[in-house]
Formats: sequence, structure tokens, C-alpha cells
Amino acid sequence: MSGWQTRVRKVTPYVPGEQPSDTNVIKLNTNESPYPPAPGVAEALQGQDAGLLRLYPDPEASQLTCAIAKRYGLSPDRVFVGVGSDDVLSISFLTFFEGPEPLLFPDVTYSFYSVWADVYRIPYEKVPLDEDFRIRPEDYIGRPASGIIFANPNAPTGIALALADVERITAANRDKVVIVDEAYVDFGGESAVSLLDRYDNLLVVQTFSKSRSGAGLRIGYAMGSAEMIRCMNDIKFSINSYTMNRPAILAGCAVMDNETYYAGCVRRIVETRERAKKELAALGFVFPDAKTNFILARHEKMPAKEIFTRLREKKIFVRYFGSKRIEEYLRITIGTDAEMDALFAALREILSGAPDGEKHD
Ligand code: PMP
Repeated sequence: MSGWQTRVRKVTPYVPGEQPSDTNVIKLNTNESPYPPAPGVAEALQGQDAGLLRLYPDPEASQLTCAIAKRYGLSPDRVFVGVGSDDVLSISFLTFFEGPEPLLFPDVTYSFYSVWADVYRIPYEKVPLDEDFRIRPEDYIGRPASGIIFANPNAPTGIALALADVERITAANRDKVVIVDEAYVDFGGESAVSLLDRYDNLLVVQTFSKSRSGAGLRIGYAMGSAEMIRCMNDIKFSINSYTMNRPAILAGCAVMDNETYYAGCVRRIVETRERAKKELAALGFVFPDAKTNFILARHEKMPAKEIFTRLREKKIFVRYFGSKRIEEYLRITIGTDAEMDALFAALREILSGAPDGEKHD
């Protein structure tokens, strides 16, 4: 090779879950909400003047930033909004993790973390979860690092870390930024927002994609000290001033006006999840105690890849990563009760042909 190809920034990209064009499938593979956005969101979009699209949107997305700030009892200068939490996390990596020391994150976690670190040339170290896939807070204390990020609850394990442990990690690392990715916190985790007033090195990132039925909207946000948010804005305004488009800002504000509706959706998803745990256990699956809108499950007899393929043939999509430590696990998003019943029926059929423990002597 001698042409421009030698100068390309080479990366191995993150692979998102499949978005099939066939809408006639049961889609339990990307942790979307099975429930639609609040009716107020469609109303807000219908009332829109398309003529306004000729004008750039507010580069600060102030209306949306203020609505989010109000919800969490923060001043607006402590909130940063972006195009999904992927955008917010990516900007935060670029902002906070300079220098030769490694960024620390768990070995089993959101696989985008290592991709951003690679793109931005941030050295990193994966810290192994314990045997039960739990984060050990002591592993993040007293170690040279440029920063720390973990998801709480973690993904794809679904396991929540107690708030006291999040605080221990944050308190022991005052000289660096600790990011808590709370994409799934509304389904049963304890949010670290309550720690923000005491720790100016803490950044909490959340999203509209899961508990607020808005994956297609692409809105995520970070909450931290005003100084941290200023640093993130300096980076953002050095890349793209207008990340939030007008329809997204409008729809996002309508989402924030309908918190009661979304709390109802979350309640239903949590109820379905708890029922799914019983059904999956009865079918011979084992799994960590999920506090998320998904369950990471392994069958005691049938390989995960085979179950994944057989479900796919039946037009039921779940996520199979095949990555280290979770080769034998499937990540199953919690759908509606009807979707989950279809999943259990399909699994019953698939597993009835399973080899009866022949490999286990
Ligand atoms: N963090 C975690 C842990 C996730 O699982 C996801 C969803 N893939 C995200 C962040 C990003 O979600 P979004 O960009 O839709 O907000």
C-alpha cells in the first residue's frame, strides 16, 4: 500500500444491534422501549412549522437543557445535551481523558467505550468484573488512571452497583473525572444525581432512548459541575455547533412534560421483567439479577448461538455478542407481555429438542 490508504485513521467500529427492515418481527435486540412515546410528543411534532427548518436551531438547545435541568433540580449550566448518550459520551471521552495514564472501565461493559478510546487514542485498561459479573469498587481505588467510566446498572450484565459504592469510587478519585453511564437507571438502579452537589469530578449521563421511549429521537444528556459542562461545550463547539435539530428539541421538551406517562411505562416493563425472570428460570436459564430493561441469560444445556439462530428463524431477534466471558449468553430486551409470551413459547419449542445434558457427566 502506498496511496492515501496509508494515512487513514484505522478503527474497528462499534457494531450496533440489527435493525431489520422487516417490521413483522419481535424485536428484543437493542433495548428499545416496547411502548410508544407519550401522545404529547406526536402533538408537539404535528403543530410544527416546517418553514422554520430553513433556520439553524438554537446551538445551546436551551429550551431542552432547561427542561432537563428543572426535572433534576439543577441549574441549566450543569446540563449538556447531545445526539443520544453516544454523542454525549463520545464528547466526554474527548474532553476529560487526556494524558498517558489509562482510562479504567470494566472488562464486560458497553463495548462502545473501547471504540471511543481507540478513536481518540486514549490509553485504557479493562478491569475484570468478579466471577459473578460484579464491579469491585476497590479495583478503581488507588490506581494510576486518567479517568473512570462504568455503566450503572452495567450493560450487558444488568447488575446495579449500590450508590454507596459509586460514591466510594468517586470520592477516592477527586483528581479525575468519574463518568457514570445511567442509560438504564430508571429500571431499578440508584441514580448518582444526588451526589452531584458534593463531587465536582462526577459526570452522570442519561438518555431518552430507553425509559423515555425515544431511541429514534436521539437525545442524551450529561449532568455535572458547571465547569465540567463548560469544558464539554468547548469541545462540542469545536466540532459541530448545531447537534440538536429543531424537531428533536421540540419533541424532547414534550417528552420532559410527560414524566408521569413514562413512569407508567417503566413500571410495566419492570413487572414484565420480573415475570420473565420466573419464566426463564423455569426454562433452564441462569442470569444475573437484572435491574435493566433486559436480561443477560445463559441456558444450562443449549449453546447461546444456537438459541439465537433458532429464535431468529422464528423472527424473534435477541442479541448475541459472542464476546469474551459472555460467549454463552444472550441479551434479551424486555418487550410487551404478548411479545415475551411469544418468546417463551418459541423457547419452549426450541429447548424441547435440546440434547438432554449429554455433555455433562
Ligand atoms: N450506554 C449504554 C450502556 C447503552 O447500552 C447504550 C445503548 N446502546 C447507550 C449508552 C447509548 O444509547 P443512546 O445513544 O441511544 O442514548
